[in-house]
Amino acid sequence: MEPIKCLIIGSGPAGLTAAIYASRAGLNPVVYEGMQPGGQLTQTTEIENFPGYPDGTTGNEMMEDLHKQAARFGASINWGTATKVDFSKRPFSVTIDDTTEVLAHTVIIATGASAKYLGIADETKYAGNGVSACATCDGFFYRRKTVAVVGGGDTACEEALYLASLCKKVYLIVRRDVLRASQVMQQRVMDAENIEVLFNHQTLGLTGDGVVEGANLIKFKGTDKEEQVHIDIDGFFLGIGHKPNSDVFKPFIECDEAGYIITQGKSQQTNIEGIYAAGDVADPTYRQAITSAGTGCKAAIEAERYLRDKGL
Ligand code: NDP
Repeated sequence: MEPIKCLIIGSGPAGLTAAIYASRAGLNPVVYEGMQPGGQLTQTTEIENFPGYPDGTTGNEMMEDLHKQAARFGASINWGTATKVDFSKRPFSVTIDDTTEVLAHTVIIATGASAKYLGIADETKYAGNGVSACATCDGFFYRRKTVAVVGGGDTACEEALYLASLCKKVYLIVRRDVLRASQVMQQRVMDAENIEVLFNHQTLGLTGDGVVEGANLIKFKGTDKEEQVHIDIDGFFLGIGHKPNSDVFKPFIECDEAGYIITQGKSQQTNIEGIYAAGDVADPTYRQAITSAGTGCKAAIEAERYLRDKGL
């Protein structure tokens, strides 16, 4: 099997930007899209903060455009998820979907991050029956119904606002007495007539006969004002952040405690020369489409320089 010059794992803004740069540099990159082609942006609604779109765009449109742009310069974009890697030998070995082994002189890891769950048993019990981590994917099923969103960051606010446009009522369950979200998102949430923010509330469990019909919450947990609260809801949405998709690489690639891949200084290189990480899988701080695209670009430039230096 002939090794390829550059393998890109993941197809969000980081992976596809890396593919654009790598293909224009003549590396003939091969991209495997992962479990969620287009990445997390395909699950967001409006994108208003990506430079160059004065009227905004949607996540799906942006990812389709990036896909076309990468394909236009010859990137090979394929279905498939990396299920095993061996980075102890060169060329590096990556197994796709447990079946196909790809050998590559450089690898760009751009596998992004996935939604986090609270870890309560009822999330599993009602999975697909009222519990969701993606308002854009599942909101449609809750038209004119009542739902709850957990979290106080931009994700939770965005989910709540999206659901508020479809649903009769949206509860936003916030564990502290403040929202963490950006000021503009906070304001929109506060201005929405059908969103009720439940500050200082945590979720104990869900109720319902086969499908979610309610949630048991605890207010002011651990204080003398502590009380139990029940809300009637038809859907329960998670918006509490994300976990980096780095597990498969961990035997070889250095990660921090939360699982984010550690890159070297200002570079996108991992602890292994020739292997780079870009986008949310290596970014606990910014996690924006624009910063992901920027690191994808850097990773591809570094891969190209490495290959040139090594005469590969
Ligand atoms: P964040 O980490 O910013 O927020 C997570 C939220 O969930 C916090 O309010 C946190 O509470 C809460 N939370 C975490 N764990 C639990 C738990 N076990 N129980 C209850 N609540 C919990 O994640 P986001 O996904 O919201 O945002 C990540 C990054 O992406 C941010 O930089 C954000 O700005 C960006 N983003 C930007 C968007 C945009 O610009 N349109 C859209 C979405 C995300 P606490 O505050 O108490 O820690």
